[in-house]
Amino acid sequence: MEKKNLDWSNLGFQYIQTDKRYVSNYKNGAWDEGCLASDANIVLNECAGVFQYAQTVFEGLKAYTTEDGKIVTFRPDLNAERMIDSAKRLEMPAFPKERFIDAVTQTVKANAAWVPPFGSGATLYIRPYMFGSSPVIGVSPAEEYQFRILTTPVGPYFKGGAKPITIKVSDFDRAAPHGTGHIKAGLNYAMSLHAIVTAHEEGYAENMYLDAATRTKVEETGGANFIFVTKDGKVVTPKSSSILPSITRRSLLYVAKEYLGLETEEREVTLEEVPEFTECGLCGTAAVVSPVGKIVDHGKEICFASGMEEMGPVTKKLYDTLTGIQMGRIEAPEGWIHVIE
Ligand SMILES: *Cc1c(COP(=O)(O)O)cnc(C)c1O
Repeated sequence: MEKKNLDWSNLGFQYIQTDKRYVSNYKNGAWDEGCLASDANIVLNECAGVFQYAQTVFEGLKAYTTEDGKIVTFRPDLNAERMIDSAKRLEMPAFPKERFIDAVTQTVKANAAWVPPFGSGATLYIRPYMFGSSPVIGVSPAEEYQFRILTTPVGPYFKGGAKPITIKVSDFDRAAPHGTGHIKAGLNYAMSLHAIVTAHEEGYAENMYLDAATRTKVEETGGANFIFVTKDGKVVTPKSSSILPSITRRSLLYVAKEYLGLETEEREVTLEEVPEFTECGLCGTAAVVSPVGKIVDHGKEICFASGMEEMGPVTKKLYDTLTGIQMGRIEAPEGWIHVIE
């Protein structure tokens, strides 16, 4: 298979249309068998549930080439499970886990020419998503749905090294207690756009959201979970029922404990105690970990000991170990690496 002629190392994070996408329709209470399609456009009724009441959920994962030339994805079973949880919360039908993994496999295989070569730092981003496709005007779930997977090649997240970022404590809330913060739904992103545009205008890379009820506890950013490191090297991550359960964060905590012998803790983290930590990072599929050097809380600066030049030592070890596992340099726990071909 001949790779596409792209400047892999200089790709950004934007949509580039690839050859095939997966499509399955839900009608009369059942999913059809699904297929790969060539048309990147979708024609829907003007009153489709997704347009009127935002009934849509999504996932995000990556396919990449390992050192020994295999195309793989990382823990797609967890994306499948999370998408089922998201769908249920929005009264949408579950797309079965085995079928999800098979659909990811088929879609990546069909676009193998778009999977960036090893060493480029680029990956093929995989976006499974589902939406209400039948007309809805009275507020209710749609009767018909479409599940799709699109893929698009994306560049290395850190061009020229991972420089720590500065973020701000947001004046907006991301998720209500008992709301939808724990599911991966477009609605959580639509309402975060104003907050992120505002933060960018003020010169910050991201927002730190606090718990909406008391505004004293750390939740997450718009699209990544927090990890912190204590003075004595313990890895701490905030616990809350309104945080999206990041697969990267769960994997990093496992790596911290099982590979690096570090103590880990998932617990409530107050904004007040944040200055006591020595390192801070944001975790998600895109970057794995982005180091945070500074948090600004209404003019008050929290500067981490790891500084503004490079990742802190513990964050770096976590990053190197997890990316080593992903790239096949370090032996992976059973079931973490899903080989496509
Ligand atoms: C997707 C997402 C994350 C990161 O999850 P990963 O599974 O690690 O990619 C974190 N927070 C939010 C709000 C997200 O939507």
